[in-house]
Amino acid sequence: MASASPSPIQKTEEEWSAILSPEQFRILRQKGTELKGTGEYNKLFEEGIYNCAGCETPLYKSSTKFDSGCGWPAFFEGFPGAINRSPDPDGRRTEITCAACGGHLGHVFKGEGFKVPTDERHCVNSVSVKFIPGNVNSSI
Ligand SMILES: [Zn+2]
Repeated sequence: MASASPSPIQKTEEEWSAILSPEQFRILRQKGTELKGTGEYNKLFEEGIYNCAGCETPLYKSSTKFDSGCGWPAFFEGFPGAINRSPDPDGRRTEITCAACGGHLGHVFKGEGFKVPTDERHCVNSVSVKFIPGNVNSSI
């Protein structure tokens, strides 16, 4: 699960910059971070699915999103196998990426004491995902 094997979807920087907005490119491909509290989905709690903004792979269900108050969308669990984890070079944080295209999503934190089933917080940039409204249980 924590393996950093090559992503199935491989594109050049040029190809990515053609399909992503400059902000999406900065965050998904260059591991940037959107400004705290500014994300489109920070306070969104409607029913639906969050797909990868780079390759449209489903990553998170709205039912796993919670209000962490941290300033970015927070989820306690992704779709099985949809998300890769790897330690940051500084060894302090764990980066999360889309398993399909390698796009940077944010970081995962454990044991912060949130009242969620996994005791994990996936801190995700709104820019890295695309919300698809709908009934989660009928479509998956
Ligand atoms: Zn992706």
